[in-house]
Amino acid sequence: MKMGGLGYLRTVIIIMCSAAGLRAQAEELLFDRYFDDATLRIDYTFAGDAARQQIYVDALSESPRWYGRRVRLDSVPLQGNGQITMRTLDGTIIYRHSFSTLFQEWLATDEAKRISRSFENVFLMPYPKDTVDVTVKLFDFHCRQVASLTHRVVPSDILIRHRRAGEHEPYVTLQRAADTTRCINIAFVAEGYTAQELTAYLTHCRQAMTALFNHEPFKSRRSRFNIVAVLSTSESSGVSEPAEGIWRNTALGSHFDTFYSKRYLTTLNLKRLHNMVAGIPYEHLIILANTEHYGGGGIYNSYVLSYTRGEQFLPVVVHEFGHSFGGLGDEYPYGNDDPMYFSDTEPWEPNLTTLHNFSDKWQDLVERGKASLIEGGGYQEKGVYRGAPDCRMRTNSEPEFCAVCRRWLNRLIDFYTE
Ligand SMILES: [Zn+2]
Repeated sequence: MKMGGLGYLRTVIIIMCSAAGLRAQAEELLFDRYFDDATLRIDYTFAGDAARQQIYVDALSESPRWYGRRVRLDSVPLQGNGQITMRTLDGTIIYRHSFSTLFQEWLATDEAKRISRSFENVFLMPYPKDTVDVTVKLFDFHCRQVASLTHRVVPSDILIRHRRAGEHEPYVTLQRAADTTRCINIAFVAEGYTAQELTAYLTHCRQAMTALFNHEPFKSRRSRFNIVAVLSTSESSGVSEPAEGIWRNTALGSHFDTFYSKRYLTTLNLKRLHNMVAGIPYEHLIILANTEHYGGGGIYNSYVLSYTRGEQFLPVVVHEFGHSFGGLGDEYPYGNDDPMYFSDTEPWEPNLTTLHNFSDKWQDLVERGKASLIEGGGYQEKGVYRGAPDCRMRTNSEPEFCAVCRRWLNRLIDFYTE
């Protein structure tokens, strides 16, 4: 403290703060240089079978405001099973986003060896001021590129549908972020609730929200999340249960038995889903299904779907949010048929390792005695490792995320908001 004691320290802090402030300002300027405060939505069809996959452009639309991140636009926090990249005509990357899809999960099923199918996919990006090239890429389980499509987007194209403010379903705000210009926007969506059941739906939303923010690191960083509940109504109460021969008319047409797996509850109607929420502050979606049958699913940067009327509702919704928001993998084994992870490939999921490149994962936490290295995870008994005996990503009875998952979720919250 020779150089003027506290005064010096204060100067250092002011310089550091203004450097961070300048960086944030520079990022904002970058956003304003390339984008309008609006959302470009591109609908794609992903089609094919286990051997070959193709990507097709379906439709483009625009809605007011952009509710995703405004910083780190040219990078992704995780590789994902696919990526979408927007480039200016001189090749500068101005937006990137990574994701997983149901289509790619389906490719691992037996059905995909026999027939070709197509799946809807919808991606949101900030609305470019000038003409750009957009590239979509899909990766296989070895993180190798298996399909790619590049197409030009001219922002003034008359066939880009302009959605008016207020075309969406009504919604209520459940929690306002401290700074709504730098926050993570989550929207709950009601599935299988009739108009008379919306009160129950809102209770379920609040329960899910409370459960999420009971878990670290969400608990201590709650003010960074903005949360709304979309009041979407269904003709019928409940969701479809194909194994029982029950088909119901619901807002999203979701059903159990996805890929013939009994508890796998999903919706394939992504266009319908995004139509319902177009223009609403959202980036991450949590669909609550009005059913007492256990089930759900979570797809990285796509959506969570969870049942609501049962004891496991809250653990399930938090676990599935770990998939959809955090890109976390399942830490439980399932058997050794149809492996998804291979010793020559480090999984992109931050909480699983094949030891191919462990130093990129939580090796430092093991060295400091803060996490372990335990075999079994990613549906495999052998060859895949997790970081703790138990975790929210392993069993419904474990109340907390493990140290590996917590650290990752913290980094991700920073990625979106710092
Ligand atoms: Zn974990």
